[in-house]
Amino acid sequence: MHYKKLFTELENECKNLENNGRIASYISELGNVDPNKFGIHLTTVDNKNYGLGDSDEKFSIQSIAKVMSLALAFQIDENNLWDRVGVEPSGTAFNSMIQLEYEKGIPRNPFINAGALLICDILVSRLKNPEQDFVDFFRKVSGNPGIEYCPKLAESEKKTGFRNAALINLMKSYGNIKNDINKVLDFYFKLCSIEMSCKELSQAFLFFAANGTHPVTKVSVLDISKTKRINAIMQLCGFYDEAGEFAFKVGLPGKSGVGGGIIAIHPGKYSIAVWSPKLNKKGNSYRGMKILEFLTSRTESSIF
Ligand code: GLN
Repeated sequence: MHYKKLFTELENECKNLENNGRIASYISELGNVDPNKFGIHLTTVDNKNYGLGDSDEKFSIQSIAKVMSLALAFQIDENNLWDRVGVEPSGTAFNSMIQLEYEKGIPRNPFINAGALLICDILVSRLKNPEQDFVDFFRKVSGNPGIEYCPKLAESEKKTGFRNAALINLMKSYGNIKNDINKVLDFYFKLCSIEMSCKELSQAFLFFAANGTHPVTKVSVLDISKTKRINAIMQLCGFYDEAGEFAFKVGLPGKSGVGGGIIAIHPGKYSIAVWSPKLNKKGNSYRGMKILEFLTSRTESSIF
């Protein structure tokens, strides 16, 4: 594929896209972001890099971090974790509580908030210093010592994190949370507060496009089977109740965050990160979804 030419086309397409939607303001710090930011960065498995717009600017990656926490939990917990969290699409919003009671405290998948909180509980049980160990893992995998939490953002989310507190309490009542609720919640808010640029994200997630071993850092994160499984979960659950729409229009495994970022993977080819803060009604980046749809349509290259 001629990526350089493609990026010229993407740049033109970006200018034509309407900037619809709204910034997530339920976390007050996120409300301060410039709504017109727009960045794209693609990294190929042979480490060619293409970026445009605000692709070097750090933003709050939010739920995109949940793919990395799942990778770490899957690496250290083998298969037992699937007794405590499912792999089915939820068809509900990322912070929904409805299914959790029907399904007796077992979250549908690791990417809705309940599931991500469950993964945090596993990491709190298994790691000596969860916050430090997790960020060290993320840095090592990506060869990027500059990955940091944003304590101000985590604090800001904690102040209004009532729904996440409700979700974890419900799971605790069913015996599916083993640790102190506040400890797990604090770790979860920290995880969501990580700030990275599109360039850093696409480089960090490259191992998902390369059978689990990072082509640049050579860190072997997951074996082939586990990597495929996380890609499958991204495909089915990465966009909450819009996962079908993303598969239909874009056709790549991916994961969004309420900071307006999206990471998407083309196994064997590339990883790509986009960022545009305004979200559609389902909580996914409006322009991010559109530009990825343009990219895979233009290149006729989804995974299908
Ligand atoms: N920190 C956010 C929350 O818990 C993450 C949600 C998201 O990015 N979808 O609400």
